[in-house]
Amino acid sequence: YAAKTGSQHAYIFDEETLAYRLEQNELAVALVSAADRGEFIVHYQPKVDLASGEHLGFEALVRWDHPLLGLLAPGAFLPLIDDPRQIVAMSQAVIHVVCHDLRTWKNMAFSPGPVAINMPETLLINESGFNMLASAMRQYGLEWHDLTIEVTEDVFINRHAEKMRAAMMRFREHGVLVSLDDFGTGFASLLHLRNFPCDELKIDRSFVADIGLDKRSEQIIHAIIDLSRNLGKRCVAEGIETQAQREFLREAGCSIGQGYFFARPMSSLDVKESWFRQPRAAAK
Ligand code: C2E
Ligand code: MG
Ligand code: MG
Ligand code: MG
Repeated sequence: YAAKTGSQHAYIFDEETLAYRLEQNELAVALVSAADRGEFIVHYQPKVDLASGEHLGFEALVRWDHPLLGLLAPGAFLPLIDDPRQIVAMSQAVIHVVCHDLRTWKNMAFSPGPVAINMPETLLINESGFNMLASAMRQYGLEWHDLTIEVTEDVFINRHAEKMRAAMMRFREHGVLVSLDDFGTGFASLLHLRNFPCDELKIDRSFVADIGLDKRSEQIIHAIIDLSRNLGKRCVAEGIETQAQREFLREAGCSIGQGYFFARPMSSLDVKESWFRQPRAAAK
């Protein structure tokens, strides 16, 4: 953000960029202890049956409840994390909140379905992710099938790919469904997909957003749905915002979806007080 001018070694600062950098710096510093202060909270977005609108489960999405700025989405703070220990601390917080909420819902006799947790690579390089989930589940008296995990294609091309494969196998052996998130946006090849232990492909929302606008994206969606069917995997679409998108996906053979059209990510309070109390099936 500083430009050298001539030989005077004078620097011209772009005030706005400087302010932005300082702000990012402050955020990064506060982020280090956010987990200790209990500032990570979790919102839940329903996964539904595309035909009936029936509730099937949730995806857990982390938010940082910043004391001054309010709720921040992952895009505003995940890129600021450079220390893997911070990822571990955040994930630990997310896992505990999710297991706690699951316990509460089950105690209230709701059927939340499995909750999907986004698992970062850091937790898959070794057994830490698995152990973390296992001990939280024990603490809250949950079953393996109460949870699923979402991983991105990066796990294939990571230099620890073999260790990741082993970690994923471990989850699957225990009956945890493994979902490949943002499918179609990474750099993985179909060869990786062949060798990779997963149960579900999640069509990235960038393709869904193009439905009705770009024939190429529509063709890619068809290809992903065919691929998942031929490989014996489930297919889920994310980012469904319109009835037209939902219809297209359903007709193309995708049976599960999530998106603002059905529900935005919501607090656990809203899950309890409104989502589980409204008649949904067939209404949509
Ligand atoms: P993702 O796992 O692909 O999550 C889906 C994102 O799409 C979420 O963004 C969700 O709020 C958003 N979304 C859902 N429906 C719609 C829709 O209809 N339209 C649009 N425009 N967006 C929709 P969010 O919550 O900002 O999360 C962004 C990413 O952050 C996630 O992408 C995931 O990669 C990461 N993330 C979220 N929670 C966690 C977490 O607990 N741990 C880790 N490691 N990463 C997380
Ligand atoms: Mg996800
Ligand atoms: Mg996704
Ligand atoms: Mg995505």
